[in-house]
Amino acid sequence: MKGLYSSKILAKIREENLEQGLELAHNMSVNYLKQVDTMRVFPSPAALDNLMFFEEELADYPQNTSAILTQLHTYGSPSTVAQTGGRYFGFVCGGILPASLAVKWLTDVWDQNPAMYVMSPVVSKIEAVTEAWVRDLLQLPQTTVAGFVSGSSTATIIGLTTGRNYLLQNLGYDCLKNGLTDAPELKIIVGAGAHSTVYKALSIIGLGNNRLIKVPADKQGRMIVDKLPDLDNRTLLILQAGHVNTGAFDDFNTICQRANQAGAYVHVDGAFGLWAAANDRFSHLTRGLELADSWSTDAHKTLNAPYDNGIILCKHQDMLVNSMHMTGSYIIYSENRDGMLYTAEMSRRARVVELWASLKALGKIGVAELVWELHHKAKYFSEQLAAAGLEIVNDVVFNQVLVRFQSDHKTELLIKKVQESGVCWLGGAKWQGQSVMRISVSSYKTTKKDIDLSANDIVRIAKALGL
Ligand SMILES: *Cc1c(COP(=O)(O)O)cnc(C)c1O
Repeated sequence: MKGLYSSKILAKIREENLEQGLELAHNMSVNYLKQVDTMRVFPSPAALDNLMFFEEELADYPQNTSAILTQLHTYGSPSTVAQTGGRYFGFVCGGILPASLAVKWLTDVWDQNPAMYVMSPVVSKIEAVTEAWVRDLLQLPQTTVAGFVSGSSTATIIGLTTGRNYLLQNLGYDCLKNGLTDAPELKIIVGAGAHSTVYKALSIIGLGNNRLIKVPADKQGRMIVDKLPDLDNRTLLILQAGHVNTGAFDDFNTICQRANQAGAYVHVDGAFGLWAAANDRFSHLTRGLELADSWSTDAHKTLNAPYDNGIILCKHQDMLVNSMHMTGSYIIYSENRDGMLYTAEMSRRARVVELWASLKALGKIGVAELVWELHHKAKYFSEQLAAAGLEIVNDVVFNQVLVRFQSDHKTELLIKKVQESGVCWLGGAKWQGQSVMRISVSSYKTTKKDIDLSANDIVRIAKALGL
C-alpha cells in the first residue's frame, strides 16, 4: 500500500529552528538600528548597485532561513532609505515608536486575522478599545466607529463609498442592490488642493473625475469658502485636514455648518493632519472638524506607527457597515466586534495592535506633545533656512515647509544636490506653478541637532550654487 504523500522539503521546513531564525533577525535588526542614525539617508550608488544580487531565477530547491536573511541584510539593509532616523523629511512618512515596533514583532508571531471575533478574540477586543480611544482623542462624535485599514487611500475609498450610499439612500435609491447605472446624479465637490488619492478613490467607486466641481483654493491650498457652490442633499463634499504640500486645513466650521444645513455628506481627508485635533492649541485649525460625517487618517504618518496603518472613522455606523457587509454560510457574526464589517478587506493583519501600542506609549499628553513638537520643529527648520536667505513659500501652520531658491532651475538643482549629499532627504513639488523644495517634519526621532545638520547642509549647497 502506498503511503501518504509527504514532501521532503516541507518535512525539512517543519524541522527548522524558528527560534534561531528569529534570533538572527533580531541580531540583524539591532545591527541596523545601530547604523540608521548615522548612515546616508538615501543609499549610496554602490549600495544600489548591489541590488543586482536580488536579480536571480527562483531556484528549484529551498534555502534555509539563515541564508535568506543573510542575503536580505547584506544587500538589502544598506540599500534602505533611512526613514526611521531623524533626518528623513521626504513626502509625509513618520517614524516608528519603539513600543509600536516591539508589539508588531509579537503580533507577527501570533499571525492573527481579525476579520471576525471568532478568529481572534484578543484583536477584536483591542480594536474595540482603540476605536473609542481614537474617537475621544480626536474629539469626534460619540457615534463614531472605526475600521482599521492599510492606509488613507483605502480609508478614503471606504469613506466616499459610505457617503455615496448614504446620499443615494436619502434620495430613495438603494445603490447596494441596484448599482450606479440608474442612480440619481450626485454633486461631488472637492477643493482644488485635494490629494490625488481623493480623485483615485472617486474613480474607483464609479463617480469618475470629469464632473467634479473643483472649488478654487487660496495661496495656502485652502478651499475659498466664498467660492463654494450651493450645497444640497445630493452633495458629497470632500475637505482636507493637512494639505500635502502646505499643511493647510480647510475651514471646517464654516463649511460643515453649511453642509449640515443642506443635508450634504462631508468626508475629511486627514491623512496626517487629523492628529492635530489631539491638541487644543491647534483648535484654530480643527474647529468644526467634528461636524463632518467621516474622516480618513493614517497612524503610520503623524502618529509614528509602522506601515500599514490607516483608519476610516465614520459617524454613521449603519451605513458604513451596510456598505462593507458580506455574507457567506461559513461566516460567524458575534455579539463582539467583527472587524471586517468596517473594512473592505476580510483577512487583515492585526495592525490595530501597533496603533494601540503607539497610543499607550504616548498617552493623551504624549500625542498632544508629539503634534506640537513636529509643528515647532518645522517652524524652527523654516526659520533657519529663511535666515540664510532662502524663501519660505507657505505659512507653516503644521509640519510642512515649502522652500524656494531663486528660480525653478536653482530650486530643482538644490533638491538634487541635497538628496545626493546624503545628510538628509527631502523631495520637491510644483506649487502655484513653481518648483519648491518640500520638507515634512513627521518623525518623533527628529531632534534640533538633526535640523541644524540638515539646514546647514542645505545652506552650504545653496551657497555653492550662488545663494
Ligand atoms: C499620504 C496621504 C494620503 C494617502 O495615504 P496613504 O496612507 O499613503 O494611502 C492621502 N491624503 C493625504 C493628504 C496624504 O498626505
